[in-house]
Amino acid sequence: MLEKEYDVIIIGAGVAGCVAALKLVANGKRVLLVEKLKKIGSHNSRKLDVTESQGIADITAELNLPFNGKFNRSIWYSPNANFELDSRVYDYYVLRGSDVDSFESIVSNRIKSFGGTVLTNAEITNYNFENEYVKSVVINYNNRHQVVNCKYLFFADGHHSKSLEIFGIKERPGPTFIGYGEICVNSELKAGVTHVFFDSKLAPGGYFYLGKADNGEVLSSIVINKALQGNISIKTYYQNFIAANANILKLLGKYKVKNSFVGMGKTGIISRRSLRNMALLGDAGRTMDPIFGYGVRQAIISGYMAAVSAIDCLNNKKRDLDEYEDKLNKSVFQGRETENQKFRNFIDHLNNEELDYAFKSIETIGLSTSLDDFFDNPFNNIGMLLNVTLKKPKLLTTVIIKFFLA
Ligand SMILES: Cc1cc2nc3c(=O)[nH]c(=O)nc-3n(C[C@H](O)[C@H](O)[C@H](O)COP(=O)(O)OP(=O)(O)OC[C@H]3O[C@@H](n4cnc5c(N)ncnc54)[C@H](O)[C@@H]3O)c2cc1C
Repeated sequence: MLEKEYDVIIIGAGVAGCVAALKLVANGKRVLLVEKLKKIGSHNSRKLDVTESQGIADITAELNLPFNGKFNRSIWYSPNANFELDSRVYDYYVLRGSDVDSFESIVSNRIKSFGGTVLTNAEITNYNFENEYVKSVVINYNNRHQVVNCKYLFFADGHHSKSLEIFGIKERPGPTFIGYGEICVNSELKAGVTHVFFDSKLAPGGYFYLGKADNGEVLSSIVINKALQGNISIKTYYQNFIAANANILKLLGKYKVKNSFVGMGKTGIISRRSLRNMALLGDAGRTMDPIFGYGVRQAIISGYMAAVSAIDCLNNKKRDLDEYEDKLNKSVFQGRETENQKFRNFIDHLNNEELDYAFKSIETIGLSTSLDDFFDNPFNNIGMLLNVTLKKPKLLTTVIIKFFLA
């Protein structure tokens, strides 16, 4: 049975919706999480998402979020060069899908154990407003339409969200990513180091990724910029990349494919992510980064920040969620949304010769020791950088021009 009123109704039980709901129920708020699919997490096949730890370490510890591995070493390859990143900043694996060990399954069970209500196979069919504030929604559940009141409404329904239309928010579209991958078992790939391959022809605007999670499952996947895809299927891109890179099969060793997955992610810049007592979270709020198509970290932060703002509003009888917007801008975007899109555009326009040149330069300036050391003390490496870059002044010039034209 549904209550007549909830403090917060959240549409979509993905990463953002689940994190927001967990934070709210852990603080004693009445939450209704509405998922349109029959099974939580089933909008994804089983897959591993990689997420940077910046800005989520405290949230993760506070909410005890489930991760499936942690690593800080990565080898990046262009067709004829490579460099190794070794950073103090960690990345995590997040297991997605509808299996019991997935992020969404574990977190949604916790939400229920705190007394939150999680509805599956349910959809909101109408919104009722009073003085432009959403007052109630109509939920279609078990073929019954029920009006439920709410004080706040969160849209966490992914990149297909209709919320931009409802909010009347304009979007400056960024790249759309398309990905295909396989979860492999019994692979001889070594854990602890991930491998990221770039090739402007075989993975235009994207990369091929290999890494092993704590449970022994290997993520082998390709992501490309959809605008550069042409008529070739994403699965064919995946197969072609492996066929052209003997190193991938060598690293994988013997392995068995457990399942495959395919999907798209949309980036863009929107002017706002909150309006009165409503907020846009995660992919619905276009928080995905346009450089690598990563969105989990942003979904976690936005879910958490939206919940924190709603808790503050509820406790202090404030109506508008505008603090969510400020918190999100400070923690996720830091005013760099346009620059990130430009950087993506720059990478899209590098050919393989330029990629090799860039990778060789990075390798030479000593990132093999530690990325952090480089950023802590960049001037120590300037001499080495000049030494490589000035050897190929023509390439250096085209790369610089492409950077500024991006
Ligand atoms: C192939 C692929 C690989 C990726 N790899 C990575 C990666 O390695 N690292 C990374 O950080 N990110 C990655 N991403 C992006 C990442 O998966 C998303 O950014 C992240 O899932 C966003 O979380 P979310 O909660 O905002 O949305 P979602 O996870 O999309 O969740 C939205 C939820 O809302 C539900 N829903 C939709 N409409 C409605 C409705 N009308 N009513 C009720 N419920 C609704 C959906 O069923 C779903 O449960 C990848 C994406 C793809 C497609």
